[in-house]
Amino acid sequence: MQYSLAALLRNALSGNTHWSPAWRDPQPKPSYDTIIIGGGGHGLATAYFLAKEHGITDVAVLEKAYIGSGNVGRNTTIIRSNYLLPGNTPFYEWSLKLWEGLEQDINFNAMVSQRGVLNLFHSDGQRDAFARRGNAMRLNGVDAELLGPNEVRRLHPLLDLDNPRFPVKGGLLQRRGGTVRHDAVAWGYARAADRRGVDIIQNCEVTGLRIESGRIIGVETTRGTIHAKRIGLAVAGNSSRLAAMAGMRLPIESHVLQAFVSEGVKPLIDQVVTFGAAHFYISQSDKGGLVFGGDIDGYNSYAQRGSLPIVEDVMSCALALFPSLGRLRYLRQWGGIMDMSMDGSPIIDRTPIEGLYLNAGWCYGGFKATPASGWCFAHTIATGQPHAFNAAYRLDRFASGHVIDEGGKGAVPNLH
Ligand SMILES: Cc1cc2nc3c(=O)[nH]c(=O)nc-3n(C[C@H](O)[C@H](O)[C@H](O)COP(=O)(O)OP(=O)(O)OC[C@H]3O[C@@H](n4cnc5c(N)ncnc54)[C@H](O)[C@@H]3O)c2cc1C
Repeated sequence: MQYSLAALLRNALSGNTHWSPAWRDPQPKPSYDTIIIGGGGHGLATAYFLAKEHGITDVAVLEKAYIGSGNVGRNTTIIRSNYLLPGNTPFYEWSLKLWEGLEQDINFNAMVSQRGVLNLFHSDGQRDAFARRGNAMRLNGVDAELLGPNEVRRLHPLLDLDNPRFPVKGGLLQRRGGTVRHDAVAWGYARAADRRGVDIIQNCEVTGLRIESGRIIGVETTRGTIHAKRIGLAVAGNSSRLAAMAGMRLPIESHVLQAFVSEGVKPLIDQVVTFGAAHFYISQSDKGGLVFGGDIDGYNSYAQRGSLPIVEDVMSCALALFPSLGRLRYLRQWGGIMDMSMDGSPIIDRTPIEGLYLNAGWCYGGFKATPASGWCFAHTIATGQPHAFNAAYRLDRFASGHVIDEGGKGAVPNLH
């Protein structure tokens, strides 16, 4: 069913009883051309682009729980392309361009909102670093504006610019950045892939990988063995577990990242604002709740819940920036499992096992990458070669030393 104003009116007038399910609920077939493991944003986008761009429709997405149960439905919805390094810039800018056309492309309202992302700075040295980043972005055709304190004050009157410890000296603004409703992205890609013939199989956990003579031939699942010539791993925080089934040890640690939502209030904060003196970011959802988050919990875990010290840290950052938020109650908090790579950048590549492909290492920032990640992973699986956009995201870069470390922070996951 094509979603349109006419369809909306027709269904409204007939009691909303004729909507068809957004995607089918098929039984797994004994074999497929390609299997994607993980029904998060990246896995679903990959399946969609395999069908759309490469005509490969004999595809199954295997998801151990339900669509949207992983990080794609747990993140703080921020999209941006404000990167500095050549390995990252073309990829993330391509992703932002795909976000800009997403809703027309998949015929689904994902509430793409280019409200702007403002990174605050608090010292002269930080201003220089942000000016350099902004200049690099502009040289690469990406929008960026360096704002002084008065311009920031006009945009965000509730900000405490004169905080004695962290005075706000300005900010780097990317106006094309913003937010997208996260679970709508999962549902939209699931529906669009299904419409092109992809089988989306929920409640189907992969428990083993079948490899013969160095080649992948299928998977063991809680719903039986399924064969395939090509298999893509897109399981985010569970990447190391799945790779271990193929005897691989990845340069990835799994950590918890928490998010928080306050009670709903009238419009207060128009953009996404990030603190430059600690890891903290905030925006306001369309329902009115403030959505905010901070650092990872800092210990390895597969639990989708976090610890209280980070709650305290995030709240103190919120109050340092916006003291008036002290009168607000926060409603909910949750955690997701982050696949933290050792240079803070992702991996989209072949593996040493023929036919087995890897999409992992998304750290804090994989949601904004979802469209380009799916697009590039589909290209890599379909052609056996990376696209120019993901050419730098090689698995062997950690052995060869060609790491892509945006912040120059080294192999310390909680600094990325
Ligand atoms: C609190 C929080 C805030 C975040 N904020 C942002 C943000 O503002 N902007 C941004 O860009 N990024 C953000 N991220 C990161 C982003 O959400 C992730 O990098 C991205 O969603 C990961 O890709 P995915 O959507 O495919 O992952 P997921 O949705 O986690 O998909 C992976 C899927 O694999 C499935 N799976 C795992 N093991 C198996 C198995 N054995 N068999 C079958 N299926 C399996 C899981 O159930 C899961 O559904 C945030 C993350 C969190 C947790």
